[in-house]
Amino acid sequence: MTALPIFPSHHPRPAAGASGRISLVGAGPGARDLLTLRALARLEEADVIFYDRLVDPEILNLARKGAERVYVGKAVGASAWPQEQIDAVIVAAARRGRRVVRLKSGDPCMFGRATEELAAARAAGIEVEIVPGVTAASAAGAALGRSLTERGATDRVVFATGTCRAGDPSPDWGAMLMPGTTLALYMGVAKLAEIRANLLAAGVPATAEVEIVCNASSAQEHLWRGTLAGVTRAAQVVNPAIILVRRPKPGAVVSQGLTAQVASIGA
Ligand code: SAH
Repeated sequence: MTALPIFPSHHPRPAAGASGRISLVGAGPGARDLLTLRALARLEEADVIFYDRLVDPEILNLARKGAERVYVGKAVGASAWPQEQIDAVIVAAARRGRRVVRLKSGDPCMFGRATEELAAARAAGIEVEIVPGVTAASAAGAALGRSLTERGATDRVVFATGTCRAGDPSPDWGAMLMPGTTLALYMGVAKLAEIRANLLAAGVPATAEVEIVCNASSAQEHLWRGTLAGVTRAAQVVNPAIILVRRPKPGAVVSQGLTAQVASIGA
């Protein structure tokens, strides 16, 4: 059997000395061996890396030694750097002919403000690409040792943020968690009480299972399980965390994960 080339011809490595370009790179959920080979290649050839708060230092250590590392400090729902400033610096660096890596946790196109950065690059006529990564919800399912979808029980996954833009209307929680759904909530920890109340008000059963996975894939990983009605005391849940709520189809039963170390949460 012939081994597949790591860099297939339709994704060529940028030539040395070529004009600058921007790669929006997914760093994955934390564990460095969940990084893709393409992400690693971009880190190894980068001139400058602009990275977020949730990117594990172990992953930055894989970058080319001489690469400049710039922390742009995006935290949940807030940013040390305003988005426009990030857009401007990545474009400016690429204009100077540098190979820019914009390193984001998980997948760059899941709640990662990729659209603004893509638009800024395109407006400036700079070559830009997306290198996908393992998103936190996938790592959360893996941590629990179960699938996010189950044939006949949950045949859809909804990825949603618990923290919308200030002033945006409240999401339609009932529509998000129709029977047959796994809801994966990002940035939801601070809003847990509100989300719980909204889901109950939308008719989601009080017995619906809720699982919370903190620091999925890292040494600090922690898992909780409870019911929707019970997740009232979540003070011990720390960020970053994914909240999974399952609402199987009527009469269907979802399986429990393989992972034993799941603490109970709530009443
Ligand atoms: N682009 C990222 C999401 C960025 S939004 C991705 O695809 O995963 C930040 C949110 O992601 C956090 O508030 C948390 O909800 C989630 N998150 C990121 N890393 C996580 C991890 N290792 N474990 C659990 N949740 C994580």
